[in-house]
Amino acid sequence: MKILVLNAGSSSLKYQLFDMESGAVQAKGTCERIGAGGTVTHKRSGAEPYFEEIDLPNHGVALERVLSLLTSAEYGVIASVKEIDAVGHRVAHGGEQLKTSTKITESVIKYLESIVPINPLHGPPAIAGMKACLSLMPDVVQVAVFDTSFYSEIEDFRYVYPIPYEFYEQDHIRRYGFHGTSHRYVSAELAKVLGKPIEELKIITCHLGNGSSITAVDGGKAIDTSMGFTPQEGIAMGTRSGSIDPTVVTYLMKTKGYSAQEVEDILNKKSGLLGVSGISNDCRNITAAAKEGNKRAELAFKILVNGIKKHIGAYAAEMNGLDALVFTAGIGENQANIREAVCENMSLFGIEIDKEKNENFTRGIPFDITKEGARVATWIIPTDEEYMIAIDTQKLAQQ
Ligand code: ADP
Repeated sequence: MKILVLNAGSSSLKYQLFDMESGAVQAKGTCERIGAGGTVTHKRSGAEPYFEEIDLPNHGVALERVLSLLTSAEYGVIASVKEIDAVGHRVAHGGEQLKTSTKITESVIKYLESIVPINPLHGPPAIAGMKACLSLMPDVVQVAVFDTSFYSEIEDFRYVYPIPYEFYEQDHIRRYGFHGTSHRYVSAELAKVLGKPIEELKIITCHLGNGSSITAVDGGKAIDTSMGFTPQEGIAMGTRSGSIDPTVVTYLMKTKGYSAQEVEDILNKKSGLLGVSGISNDCRNITAAAKEGNKRAELAFKILVNGIKKHIGAYAAEMNGLDALVFTAGIGENQANIREAVCENMSLFGIEIDKEKNENFTRGIPFDITKEGARVATWIIPTDEEYMIAIDTQKLAQQ
């Protein structure tokens, strides 16, 4: 079975074609600058990447180009679009109704359109990607896999914000949680490598990238997570503030005369590691500058690490225990210094890592960094959201 996984952003379309028999990615790539020019980077395993500049006025045209590259004699990996058995779409938000991965129908699209007000950035491009597929590949099964669905069983006292209840009931303001596909994948992978049923494990998964979130997974179910109504809540990120006193927002508006949009831009695009350090949103640059003695970079580093520690402590308390800690995504998979700082002085929770293993880890595979005798298993697990989407899509396509 061949499955095309699509991830549509506001001006981008990422794709991966999976051969599910072998699990291999046959081709993958990214269309960028959709609506403002257009570029395509297309890669096949064992071949040089192909790059082109081409007018991509919308997601439909971008998808057409992807399909023509996948089937082209020169750069393709399949003879015809008919070889694609199903398409899996990464969808950030499933709202309150779409709680599991689902086949895409008119009514699914209608519901997703109805929740665009709470998902204004990611909703429209995802819907555009689905509509493009439905018109270009009408006979192929389309599946939506939601970042939010891993959190659909979180209990109400963890997702209702303590603000007037009608804002939840009428305006659907609540914690939704994001990155769920990644947390679901790495927690399942961890159970596999530990050789234990996930039902018996209390796990904290730290997805640390440009956007970061932390999730408590108890018995295979997410019971709490750091991102909330939007991916803005939680720990400090590359350019996002994470959680701050909400009065800062109104104070800035009142005293500086900023509009709502201006404050949102500050908190979303100019805060986090970038805002504190004044140098970069990239954690590599922050750690390098901190090592050279840059005080604000050091401060940004400490804020990030402290936020992660606090969530680990909170989630261990919520689960009344902890069996395993997982690091994943760009920072989690690659930055030994962040992992070391997070795990320092955490023996209270049973977390102790082997510094040697942590520094000399092998990239790209699940890697155990637990100190011998430690109560909690600490692992680096590379995330693979696209593969998880392909798996869900395969299951639904076979039904
Ligand atoms: P996104 O959330 O955009 O998917 P990533 O998961 O790629 O982001 O994470 C980006 C972060 O990961 C950056 O802060 C960067 O410093 C860090 N990172 C990514 N790759 C590496 C690497 N090879 N070595 C060290 N840090 C890395």
